[in-house]
Amino acid sequence: MNIVDLIIKKRDGGKLTKDEIEFFIKGVTDSSIPDYQVSAMLMAIYFQNLDNEETSELTMAMAHSGGTFDLSSVEGIKVDKHSTGGVADTTTLILAPLVASCGVPVIKMSGRGLGFSGGTLDKLESIPGFKIDVTEEQALEYAKASGIVLMSQTDNLTPADKKLYALRDVTGTVDNLALISGSIMSKKIAAGADAIVLDVKCGSGAFMKDYPSAVKLAKTMAEIGKSVGRNVTAVISSMDQPLGMNIGNSLEVIEAIEVLKGNVKGDLLDVALTLGAYMLMGAKKVNSVDEGIAMLTENINNGKGLAKFRELLIQQHGNPDIIEDYSLLPLSKAKLEVRADSDGYIYSMNTAEIGRSSLETGAGRASKTDSIDFGSGIIMKVRIGDTVSKGDVIAEIYSATEEKCISAGKYLKDAIEIKAEKPEQPKLILDIIS
Ligand code: URA
Repeated sequence: MNIVDLIIKKRDGGKLTKDEIEFFIKGVTDSSIPDYQVSAMLMAIYFQNLDNEETSELTMAMAHSGGTFDLSSVEGIKVDKHSTGGVADTTTLILAPLVASCGVPVIKMSGRGLGFSGGTLDKLESIPGFKIDVTEEQALEYAKASGIVLMSQTDNLTPADKKLYALRDVTGTVDNLALISGSIMSKKIAAGADAIVLDVKCGSGAFMKDYPSAVKLAKTMAEIGKSVGRNVTAVISSMDQPLGMNIGNSLEVIEAIEVLKGNVKGDLLDVALTLGAYMLMGAKKVNSVDEGIAMLTENINNGKGLAKFRELLIQQHGNPDIIEDYSLLPLSKAKLEVRADSDGYIYSMNTAEIGRSSLETGAGRASKTDSIDFGSGIIMKVRIGDTVSKGDVIAEIYSATEEKCISAGKYLKDAIEIKAEKPEQPKLILDIIS
C-alpha cells in the first residue's frame, strides 16, 4: 500500500477501505508517514469527508493505536465527559469536582486548546505546581483515594490522535465531523469509562455552526459508542456567545472557583449542572436530570464541590491557596478596556472571533510549538440582550504587551454587534441525544 495512492483516492472522492484506514493510522502512529503527507490526507478528508463506515473504522483504528486504560479496579460506574470545544467553556473544572463529590468517580483525560477553543489542560497548567502528567498507576491510586483525576492523555493512549490533533490545529482541518468524531470517541473508548456524556457545542463559537450539523455529530458519536457497548448521552448546547464571562487560562480557573463557591450563576453553571446531572444518571446515582441538578446544587451550597476541587489541587501538586487568593494565579500586566461604539442592545457575537481575540492576547497557540501566556485573556462584561450606552466597557483585555491588547481589542470589537433592535435570547440547551 502506498500513502500517495490513498491521498489521491480520497482527494478524488473515493471510499477508503478498513485496511487502508488502518494503514494510514499505523503510519501516523509510528511516524512512517511524514507530517506533510498526513496533513495532505487530513485536507483530502476535510474536503471529501468520510462516510459512517469510514468514520467508525477511523475511530476504532485510532482507539487501538495504543493501549487502553483498564478502570475495573476502581469501584463504581465510571463516567467520562468531553466537549467538542468552545469559548469560555470551563465546565470540566466545575462538574468534575461536583460529580466526584456526589460519590461518582471521575477519571478524565483532557486536551489542550484547539484552534479558537480553549483546553482544560492549559487551564490546569495555569495553576502553580499543578501536574497534568500522571501515570496510569498513579491515576488509579488517585481515583481510589479521592474519586477525581484530571490528567493529560498518557503516551500509551491513542497516540494517533495526539499527532492528528496537533496537525489539525495548524492545518485548518479541525472542523470536520468525521475527524472530530474519530478524535473524541477514540479517546473516550480507550480511556475506559462505562458511560460517556458529550457536550456538543453548536453556534458561532463551535466547530459545528448549525443545529443539523451538531445533531449529526452527536448521533455519529452516540452510534460509535453504542457499537462498542458504551452508554453515550450527547447534550447539544449553544455556543452563540462565550459560555462563561472569562476567557483565558487563569481567568477561567478563577471563574470556575467562583461558580463552585456559589458566587456566580448563569449559563456556565447551567450547562455544567446539566452535563453533571447526565453524568450522575449515567452512573445510576440518580433517576432524573432534576434529581441530578438538585444533588449537584446542594454540593455547591454545602461546599463539598469546592472541597473536592481543593483535594484535586493538593493531590496533583497544585497550590490550593489559589482558592482564597487569586493573586497567586498569573495575570498579564497590560490591560485594555473595550468600549461600546453606540447605544443599543448587544445583538450578536461572533464567538469564534472572540476566541481568536483571546488567541491574540497569547492565551492560545497559533502553531504547534507556541507556548501559552497563562495570565492573558478577556473578561467579558456583557451578554446577548444586554443594553449598553456608547462608552460603556464591554470587555477587559489582559495581555503581556499593550500592542497585543490593541490587536486583540480589534478582533473583539468586530465580533460584537450592537443594534437598536432587541435580539432573541439564544436557547442554551438545544437538544439531548442518547
Ligand atoms: N475535541 C477533541 O478531542 N477532538 C476534536 O477533534 C475536537 C474537540
